[in-house]
Amino acid sequence: MTTYPNIVAGQPVLSATTFESRNPATGELLGRVPQSSPEQVAQAVAAAQAAQVAWAALPDAERQAALNRVADILHAEQEHLAEWITREQGKPLGGVGPDQVPGARFEAYACEVWTRVPASLALPVEVAFEDDTRRDEVHRQPYGVVAAIAPWNWPLMIAIWQIIPALRAGNTVVIKPSEHTSIGTLEMVRLISAALPPGVLNTVTGAGEVGATLIAQPAVRKILFTGSTATGRRIAALAGERLSACTLELGGNDAAIVLPDADPAEIAMGLFWGAFLNMGQTCAAIKRLYVPDALHDAVVGALQGLAQAMPMGDGLQPGIAMGPIQNLMQFDKVVSLVESAKAGGARIVCGGEAPVGPGYFYPITLVTDIDDGAPLVDQEQFGPVLPIVRYRDLDDAVARANRLDVGLGASVWGRDADQARAVALRLQAGTVWINQHGAVHPMVPFGGLKGSGLGVEFGLEGLKSVTQTRVISLKK
Ligand code: NAD
Repeated sequence: MTTYPNIVAGQPVLSATTFESRNPATGELLGRVPQSSPEQVAQAVAAAQAAQVAWAALPDAERQAALNRVADILHAEQEHLAEWITREQGKPLGGVGPDQVPGARFEAYACEVWTRVPASLALPVEVAFEDDTRRDEVHRQPYGVVAAIAPWNWPLMIAIWQIIPALRAGNTVVIKPSEHTSIGTLEMVRLISAALPPGVLNTVTGAGEVGATLIAQPAVRKILFTGSTATGRRIAALAGERLSACTLELGGNDAAIVLPDADPAEIAMGLFWGAFLNMGQTCAAIKRLYVPDALHDAVVGALQGLAQAMPMGDGLQPGIAMGPIQNLMQFDKVVSLVESAKAGGARIVCGGEAPVGPGYFYPITLVTDIDDGAPLVDQEQFGPVLPIVRYRDLDDAVARANRLDVGLGASVWGRDADQARAVALRLQAGTVWINQHGAVHPMVPFGGLKGSGLGVEFGLEGLKSVTQTRVISLKK
């Protein structure tokens, strides 16, 4: 069985011990992953540090050209990487166009897009103040070594979200993928390393303790973390001890509010993929749906029709729209939240029972007759289950949407754009979408409020977040 090596200073690196990676649809062993030792983590950071000065000193156009070569490789390897995503993460291959299931091919394509866009951005020197007596320039300089820690839900795309802006700004990177989805990331880093000087991009692998060792290295000055709120709090505490900067993209429990003037047939597909993209294992997915009494049955009926038309199975097979849940821990969480909803008297409109057989499959599950306070409404299910909550009074729906200590995304659905916008302005979330959900874009800042994170990624603001400010102040 192949062991997929880490990449450190451009070289493959194995470890004394390894762990398995398995296909969540079939249970098949896909390969083995090195368990990085603390010494190997230190070596990866040392390699990044050794490469950083020369990387930052390159003319801007050369770093830009290197990242465009990375994008060319991601383009050429799209199908190969998409197959790895499906095998290891579970989302179906799908397609890229508007009528296609947004799956692994979409994720691999997004890796290329989220490389080309930051490659095209620049942070020129800004003059903050100038008069006859002085000139004050703001220069953006890299932190040095950036540590990136990624989750398992969109493993390659989120790794790219972290890696590329950091490199663009002149940092070097050590990335630790999730222990559940390491091989795809190792494969991607191996391929794109051909376009980068050795040591500019390095990997380490293992579970949380390897991540903790990584961010504790003295040379790490900036941490990019995407994952659960619980781990984010631990990382912020460690970063606090070292006074390292950190960007935290954490969990959410996004509410969607359907307004009384919405047309259920028109919004059903948007609501469906807003909730069930990647089997609901998406940070900014609809996890609670608030529907006015008068539209409740029509919205539930439309979603049920779509749920029952989506074939579930091994995403490498053609025609599959829904894959498995990625891992057993997440599967158990989904089962327990649905069972608690049943025990609380909720109605299971469809789904609600895992099929017998291999893989962590769980059907699309719509749950009604449920209210705020139920664990399935209050906790992030991060799976293919949607609680649908009735409301009578719009102010009350807004208050319910805002009552949790998370605020990643939210959405408002209705025909009157002005009214939808007025409601959107009252929602406490890093992004409030209108008549769409989760539609991130590489030029638009993305981040969470409250317990959903600190800082933003994407666009110029995301690029600035991997730099520190240095002022050059000249007396005239
Ligand atoms: P997780 O927090 O369990 O793990 C994320 C990463 O952190 C993994 O690589 C893990 O090995 C590492 N890790 C765990 N403990 C650590 C520690 N003490 N120190 C350093 N690293 C440690 O999260 P997950 O289960 O992989 O991902 C699912 C969660 O991520 C969900 O809550 C989801 O909402 C969130 N998420 C957020 C975003 C966003 O952009 N806001 C995007 C995707 C996922």
